[in-house]
Amino acid sequence: MKILCIGRNYAAHAAELGNAVPEEPVVFCKPDSALLGRNLPFVIPSFTNDVHHEIELVLRIGKVGKHIEPRFAHKYIDAVTVGIDFTARDLQSELKSKGLPWEKAKGFDGSAVVGRFVSADQLDLSNLRFSLTKNGVPVQSGHSQNMLHSFADIISYVSRYFTLKTGDLIFTGTPEGVGPVHPGDVLEGYLGETSLFVRNVR
Ligand code: MG
Repeated sequence: MKILCIGRNYAAHAAELGNAVPEEPVVFCKPDSALLGRNLPFVIPSFTNDVHHEIELVLRIGKVGKHIEPRFAHKYIDAVTVGIDFTARDLQSELKSKGLPWEKAKGFDGSAVVGRFVSADQLDLSNLRFSLTKNGVPVQSGHSQNMLHSFADIISYVSRYFTLKTGDLIFTGTPEGVGPVHPGDVLEGYLGETSLFVRNVR
C-alpha cells in the first residue's frame, strides 16, 4: 500500500505559504509506515519544533489502474475520508530552501492520519465539505469544489507515473488555515457534520 499526496491544491493555502499556484499537481509520497495506527495519539517527533496540521480529503483506491482517463477515474474511488497530512514545517522549509526532497518533513512515522472511511457510493464527490477543529475550535474548513485539481484529474495524473493499487490512499491537498499543534491538543476531523476521527497530540 502506498500513500500519494497532492500539494498546493487550494489557491488560498498556496498563498498563505508564499507558494506559486502550480499548473500541474504537486505530488509526493509518504511510506506506509507514516500511517498512524487507529486511535493512537500523534506524538510530536523530537526533530521538529513546528508541526502543522493539514486537514485533507483522502481517497481510497478500489482497484488496480494505470493511465486512467479522467472520465473513468471515479470508478477507482472506493471510499473517502478526512485525514491529516502532518508536516514538520521547519524541516520542510529547510529542505525546500536547499532544493531537497520533502520526505523527512512529510513522511515520518505517524504523519498520516486517516479517519473512518465512507463508501464513495454514499457521497456526492463533487460536493464534499470538510473541516478540522483543534480543542473544539474550528481551524480549517474546505470544499472539494475549491480544489485546483479535481479528484478525476488527480487520479488521471498520478496514474501516469504510479500504478494505483487496491487500498492505496491519495491525500488531495489542504485548504488554508494550517497551523502548529502542541502536546495536549485534541484534533477532530469532519466530513460535512460527521466526525470521522479524534486524535490527541502528545
Ligand atoms: Mg498536504
